[in-house]
Amino acid sequence: MKKLELHWRILIGMLLGIVFGVVMANTSWGPGFVSEWIKPVGTIFIRLLKLIAIPLIIASLIKGVSDLQDLSKFSRIGGRTIVLYIITTVIAISIGLLLVNIVQPGNNVNDSVVTKITEQYQSTASTKVASALQTKERGKLQFLVDMVPSNFFEAASSNRNMLQVIFFAIFFGIALLMVEDKYAKPLKDFFDGLNEVVLKMVDLIMLIAPYAVFALLAGLITDTQDPSLFVALGWYAFTVVGGLLLMMVFYLTVNYFITGISPMTFLKGIAPAQLLAFSTSSSAATLPVTMERVEEHLGVEGEVASFVCPVGATINMDGTSLYQAVAAVFIAQVLAFDLNFSDQLTIIVTATLASIGSAAVPGAGMIMLVIVLEAIGLPQEKLAVGLALIFAVDRPLDMCRTVINISGDATVAMLVAKSVGKLGPPRPKNWDDNYPKKS
Ligand code: ASP
Repeated sequence: MKKLELHWRILIGMLLGIVFGVVMANTSWGPGFVSEWIKPVGTIFIRLLKLIAIPLIIASLIKGVSDLQDLSKFSRIGGRTIVLYIITTVIAISIGLLLVNIVQPGNNVNDSVVTKITEQYQSTASTKVASALQTKERGKLQFLVDMVPSNFFEAASSNRNMLQVIFFAIFFGIALLMVEDKYAKPLKDFFDGLNEVVLKMVDLIMLIAPYAVFALLAGLITDTQDPSLFVALGWYAFTVVGGLLLMMVFYLTVNYFITGISPMTFLKGIAPAQLLAFSTSSSAATLPVTMERVEEHLGVEGEVASFVCPVGATINMDGTSLYQAVAAVFIAQVLAFDLNFSDQLTIIVTATLASIGSAAVPGAGMIMLVIVLEAIGLPQEKLAVGLALIFAVDRPLDMCRTVINISGDATVAMLVAKSVGKLGPPRPKNWDDNYPKKS
């Protein structure tokens, strides 16, 4: 019997996980059982993905840069990537602003809900505000300084330093291009081999993906505290999800018209990464799979994918920026804080910066939202109330926005690849998902 395609298996795992989670949540012993015996499977899976992220970036980026015949191509890839990332982010924010101003979700929340939510979540929200303000206090060029590592091993020791590792790999790759062939060849062969092995590790890890997403979703459901708040914040959640769906339509359309890839082909190629993004809420944890799918299933050549995807996972978060725009206006509406046109422009600029600054981990977008709220002049004492308001539904929205974050990275990878002649055909029809082989 033909084995189901990977994305179907993951989807079935997710659905069964939700059903199992709901059943367990309704028993007295279920939540404890899930957290002790089921959740660890999901945690191990996320750890495995994180484990290979840094080796994958190093191997594929050094290989990618050193495979380039001339460096001008690299600067073209770099320039286009950054420009496209900024354009897609601004489009995402504009969609978010448009929707939230039309739907006005903040006008549908009554005072008793506001009081209940504030009481329940204000202290957690205050901690998040404090950590965001700490980030803000750093110097203007600190982000550039932060990109340059002072110790390679220190940089590679934390997945949060992805930009530092990218910096090192590009620097190393460029130098590799400049030394004599007799020195370069063995190193290039080494990184070629390393790249293949790490991609194979991604395939092997993906074999447990359907079971891992089962565990992750069952754990999430049994941890959910007050489902009634979902309903109270329904219009807000609906606005965010509606905006994210429009963004997806935008990617599919752009891809179709510019790269000629049909929506079905794109979705089939990227679906496993999207489902993992949904289950883990982390573009960083999903990165190895995003890279593998873009390269081996959507036809983007290694030198483009190895640069565009890790940079995108770190700085390009279209879903997060859209959500930040909607959340900022929603909070202003609930707290009856008037926003004029220039405030909305401020949101475009600050949400772009805040999404660049958000780490690719669960919940990071909400912390950086503080920067947007401050920029539109929300008083300090109201910041925690603002965050508390959206706290209850943040995790499910985080899951959805992370899907858009990685889909945006994949789309830009395809557009850049197309523009520099590095986009091949998508995978052949009879490709075996379990044991992908490079042609
Ligand atoms: N969880 C998101 C990501 O990893 C970031 C966020 O919006 O919180 O892409």
